[in-house]
Amino acid sequence: MPLRPAVAELPAYVPGARAPVGASAYKLSSNENPYPPLPAVLSAIADAAADANRYPDMYATELTEALAGRLHVEPAQVVAGTGSVAVLGHVLAAVCGAGDEVVMPWRSFEAYPIAVAVAGAVPVPVPLTADARLDLPAMAAAVTRRTRVVLVCTPNNPTGPAVRADELATLLDAVPTDVLVVLDEAYLEFVRDPQVPDGVAVLREHRNVVVLRTFSKAYGLAGLRVGYAVARPRLAAGIRAVATPFGVSHVAQRAAVASLAAADQLLARVDGIVEERGRLLECLRDQGWHLPDSQANFVWLPLGDRTSAFAADAARAGVLVRPFAGEGVRVSVGESEATDLLLDVTADWAGRRTA
Ligand SMILES: *Cc1c(COP(=O)(O)O)cnc(C)c1O
Repeated sequence: MPLRPAVAELPAYVPGARAPVGASAYKLSSNENPYPPLPAVLSAIADAAADANRYPDMYATELTEALAGRLHVEPAQVVAGTGSVAVLGHVLAAVCGAGDEVVMPWRSFEAYPIAVAVAGAVPVPVPLTADARLDLPAMAAAVTRRTRVVLVCTPNNPTGPAVRADELATLLDAVPTDVLVVLDEAYLEFVRDPQVPDGVAVLREHRNVVVLRTFSKAYGLAGLRVGYAVARPRLAAGIRAVATPFGVSHVAQRAAVASLAAADQLLARVDGIVEERGRLLECLRDQGWHLPDSQANFVWLPLGDRTSAFAADAARAGVLVRPFAGEGVRVSVGESEATDLLLDVTADWAGRRTA
């Protein structure tokens, strides 16, 4: 059976490296939260496992209502899915037809070109600026009559900078209101730049905005697959209509609800990661590295041709990082012991560079 050409040509999604079985290494390759679930979340997971013979609540009612309450939106505006990557796929399936264009930043999240092609649409990549930020004026200029969606990754994975309110306002003014602007805020909880807007507030002012968020990063539930969209009710209903029935497991729903109830504790952990990010960036800059800003739980080392060699060196030192061959290395912020190991490798490389 021949595959659809768009599927036959899909780039592979490259997962972050894992330590070989039996070996130990710090895994800084997938932007995961280094902390295990809180005891209260673990016990919610264990309790929920006892109901595994039943289908989950198809509409994740309690989770949806808890999120709506926190975000001050209607429950009809919230759609949960199996990770925000899956929700993005549903958004694209709901609005894109064959051959429609999706404008996206590049280098950005590697799931984007895959999700766009699977939806039958055409990715239109727009290069980042020299300082690894989204080039929103260029993205606005790339919009044509075929454009249905503009993807805005803020903070941008893998480079780190976030979009500021004035830049976003200019983009939203320039883009026709029948083009959907997707704000992917997977790392929102790590943002500390006061000029970076809250997507849900932007959504209140602009009908053509949808916000994607996730429990995978700040809330530390990457393994349970739960994320969500916030949108106008009509679009939310469309996203719900194309989603896999019963996608979000009962275990994931209960864990997410318990995590929202423990948000203060979990966000205190995020404060610690943000502090560690500050220490890592400062030490790297002291070593002579020129790095973009990071508002997320990772930093970007623009190593160009030396990317793969650096990643191999880091692995030998016990730190797994995410290389993007020929471009750079993304390093997640994890345990401070891991930061120290990494800083030994970067110090060595910084020395070589100036030698
Ligand atoms: C990690 C990440 C997500 C979230 O993925 P999940 O499917 O929710 O685990 C979404 N967008 C970006 C840019 C990410 O880096």
